[in-house]
Amino acid sequence: MLSSDSSDLIRQLEERGAKRVALQFPEGLKRKAAEYATTLMEAGFEVIVSGDPCYGACDLALDTLGDADVLVHIGHAPVDDRPDVIFLPYTVGFDMSVLDNALPLLQRARTGLVTTVQHVHLIPEMEKYLRSKGVDVQVAGGRGRTPHRGQVLGCCFSTARDTRADQIMFVGTGLFHPVGIALTTGARVIALDPLAGTTREVRRDALLRRRFAVIEKARGAKSIGIIVSTKSGQRRMDLARRLASLSPSAVIVTMQEVSPDELLNLGFGCYVNTACPRLAYDDQQRFPAPVLSPQEFEILCGARNWDDYEIDEIP
Ligand code: SF4
Repeated sequence: MLSSDSSDLIRQLEERGAKRVALQFPEGLKRKAAEYATTLMEAGFEVIVSGDPCYGACDLALDTLGDADVLVHIGHAPVDDRPDVIFLPYTVGFDMSVLDNALPLLQRARTGLVTTVQHVHLIPEMEKYLRSKGVDVQVAGGRGRTPHRGQVLGCCFSTARDTRADQIMFVGTGLFHPVGIALTTGARVIALDPLAGTTREVRRDALLRRRFAVIEKARGAKSIGIIVSTKSGQRRMDLARRLASLSPSAVIVTMQEVSPDELLNLGFGCYVNTACPRLAYDDQQRFPAPVLSPQEFEILCGARNWDDYEIDEIP
């Protein structure tokens, strides 16, 4: 932990009168747990580290918080505000010149700019740099689960839509976000990985073909499990009840972690995922049965047309 970060965190904890502090890290930052814990213990706090898997601010370690005064959640922006949680950003920088790699793929059009929370502090610098290269950049303000300007999450692409641009540039790693942006905006999407320096145009057709095949496979299922997550920011029971009403074979199933082994043990012929939307899209090959998004289940039940396909987002 940088000394400036630690002194700011210690000040916030002291202002709240906290004595016992719970720490929660996303998977990629867990190796820093000992360093953070030692710094806080040396400053006089009692520290408990949550060792459970964590993939987002939708998954607060509330059990661990039960034994502490404050939970410090590292690496994600808040999806909802709680007075007993401090969200500590973890930023990753890069040299602006890497944006040059995307310039040959950008057509002369208004270009929306979005990124993930690790790089969101660089949005003003990216805007300035791209404008200096003649790109007409648009960045939309944050709202809801994505409070920062230009921030996207795997379950919320509103800042991409709100640019109303025909071309969107996504800066970040992986393909899930840019494919989601392509599906929700219909725009041309250019993805730049600022750490690897790679750039590509992302197409939605391959994902749509795969999802069509999953829906068709689900048609033969005799039993349907509607998965509801018990995680703090993923629980969508109202949606699950509405979906369950579409089929007499549907049963609501609550789960903390949605894993291939658990779905195998439950033994339903098909599942509908109302937990983290990425599960259905990213992990299908690992699951023993088709796992549909809510919108795909509506298509299966005849409550939605294929032409109205939408990616699942959590409002
Ligand atoms: Fe990330 Fe999924 Fe949580 Fe959304 S629901 S914040 S995509 S882990």
